[in-house]
Amino acid sequence: MTSPIVRFAPSPTGRLHVGNVRTALINWLFAKGQGGKFILRIDDTDVERSTKENEDALKVDLEWLGLVWADTFNQSDRFAQYDAAAEKLRGMGLLYPCYETADELDRKRKIALSRGRPPVYDRAALELTDADKAKLEAEGRKPHWRFKLSGERVEWNDLVRGPQSIDTSSLSDPILIREDGSYLYTLPSVVDDIEAGITHVVRGEDHVTNSGAQIEIFKALGGTAPDMAHTPLLIGADGQGLSKRLGSLSMGELRAQGYEPMSICSLLAKIGTSDNVEARGSLDELVAEFDFGKIGRSPARFDEAELKGLNAAILHALPFDTVKDRLAAVDPRAADEAFWTVVRENCSLLPEVAGWVDTVFGDITPLVDDEDKEFVATAATLLPDGELTGETWSQWTNAVKAETGRKGRGLFMTLRKALTGQEHGPDMGAILPLIGRERALKRLGG
Ligand code: GLU
Repeated sequence: MTSPIVRFAPSPTGRLHVGNVRTALINWLFAKGQGGKFILRIDDTDVERSTKENEDALKVDLEWLGLVWADTFNQSDRFAQYDAAAEKLRGMGLLYPCYETADELDRKRKIALSRGRPPVYDRAALELTDADKAKLEAEGRKPHWRFKLSGERVEWNDLVRGPQSIDTSSLSDPILIREDGSYLYTLPSVVDDIEAGITHVVRGEDHVTNSGAQIEIFKALGGTAPDMAHTPLLIGADGQGLSKRLGSLSMGELRAQGYEPMSICSLLAKIGTSDNVEARGSLDELVAEFDFGKIGRSPARFDEAELKGLNAAILHALPFDTVKDRLAAVDPRAADEAFWTVVRENCSLLPEVAGWVDTVFGDITPLVDDEDKEFVATAATLLPDGELTGETWSQWTNAVKAETGRKGRGLFMTLRKALTGQEHGPDMGAILPLIGRERALKRLGG
């Protein structure tokens, strides 16, 4: 096989979310694994809804994820090429003008349905004579343009879905150009895929029907249709579609919450596949494990709880040097190797270190029940002299046990609550030296 060339083609009409990042990731992993090329195409033919701000943001998001591209271009720079392709199709009689209004089309659909027929466009416009067209245009109507499908079956062997067969006689001829002259995505996408030499179109299964029409357009324009892979859509942990929640699942939002790019990539690369969902430390590992054959046909379940679990696993393995700056941004006191090594086990998201900064260095309220007051006061007097080290906790609790007779939870949990103000947290032997003698004595009321 020659090296693949793939593209990720987002429309900059909103922020990147987990759904489109999964498509980007699958394209990227495939290209990388095959020594191929990953192109970023900005689908901004819809000039009303596309913004530069969204385009810039999606590039920042992809770079943050590590999904860097070999080349990028904007469809809005290429209208001349689309016009030329449209002209070519017109010349072949494959792009024809239609004058029905949206209301008229709606009525036709309803009539077809009421007669038990599929709501497929009836091609009435093909019957119009030049005189009819001139008359309609004189009335002020502007045409939209439809591609004339062959009426035959289009077949391809989808890398995810297996053999596909679409009967184009059951489809409406797709509108390629709107009344106002603007392009829908269908034609520009094919023109660009041909020119960029795209070998594989990898996208969500909501595009399967488009593929039927687009494969015919590829052929009409003299290109060869690329291989196709259509991945099942994402659903939430509740089994529902994610569309309503995509805003909160945007990369900007997840980054702001402190998620690691590799937890997002690990999850999105593995859900809906035959691999286990596990954290991976680098994209290279995901590349090595990627295979279209592992992607199943059922929707992939995106569960935020699972994402958090993976994030925790990744965080626990992150060396101090790689997170130092981010820790410093949370709180300068967090940018300390010993502190990081101790508290990371108790964080699912990096910004949670802020809470541990308070616990270790701040002015906490010790949790001491009335009946424990005397015990805690005695314990304070037994704290070993000198600097607190990794051994202090066991030496100290042994001494407290010998003196008071307390053991187990009554000993350890009582001291933890007094020293940290909470019942859970990092290993006390490790956290005690960070708290230090002065603060420890103060918290013990000593
Ligand atoms: N802009 C299209 C979309 O986001 C691209 C689809 C494709 O990959 O061809 O749905």
